[in-house]
Amino acid sequence: VTNRLEGLGVDIRSIGTVVLTHHHWDHVADLGHFVLGRWEASQFGAAGGKRFATALSVIGPSGTRTLVDRLFGPAGIYANCIATRFADDIGVPLYGTRGIRPPFPPVVGSVAEVSAGDTFQVGDIEFTAAAAEHCQPYLVSLAYRLVADGRVLVFSGDTAPCDGVASLARDADLLLHDCNVRDEVRARLGRVSIHSTPGEVAATAAGAGVRHVVAVHHGLAPSDEDGRRGLQEAIAAGFDGMITIAREGDSFCLGGGVSTCGDR
Ligand SMILES: [Zn+2]
Repeated sequence: VTNRLEGLGVDIRSIGTVVLTHHHWDHVADLGHFVLGRWEASQFGAAGGKRFATALSVIGPSGTRTLVDRLFGPAGIYANCIATRFADDIGVPLYGTRGIRPPFPPVVGSVAEVSAGDTFQVGDIEFTAAAAEHCQPYLVSLAYRLVADGRVLVFSGDTAPCDGVASLARDADLLLHDCNVRDEVRARLGRVSIHSTPGEVAATAAGAGVRHVVAVHHGLAPSDEDGRRGLQEAIAAGFDGMITIAREGDSFCLGGGVSTCGDR
């Protein structure tokens, strides 16, 4: 994630909040890289030579505090790494060469755990969390509805089709939806609450009246053009709004009608 963001020209220091949907490794494995890379980059100054001082917030479902503590806390796996950066004989002289002096900010400023039904604010964006259906009871998995300027984006996180995400997606301008089970696999798998098929994505999007659905997390489908076309057609069979099969690096805009801004 961190390298991808930098490759897209995003200054990771400018990201002040990380919002997690659930704690599967493919959704949190880069948290250490992001948090420590952001902190390190911040000490080396932003424009004007000033430290980029925004405290990082991490928000996620139950267990997020434990996750952060076990990574970055006093007994966490990065405790020694962090200690060197705060040390009087290592980090202090190193960052001093850039005019950055203690006290150094913590690598994570705050952690908040949220539950289905909660609303919270991140900058100008109002978030609402809902329960996704994904590997319960082992995990708590959340989906989020983001509202800003009257525009609505819904991110399903990982989920099988479920009432929580269907309600959350009501009239969304843009729905980013898990599409990680092929229909033929569903036939063999049965009704196991892991991911959604293209047909299930279509049913959720159509039922909720969304304007534009973006299939994400489709890594189990063939990624060549035929595979992508197959996904597109399978969703289009049940949904007549706008459909995009996401590629890494795509960006989308919600203002002035919904359109794909194109690959960056
Ligand atoms: Zn997952």
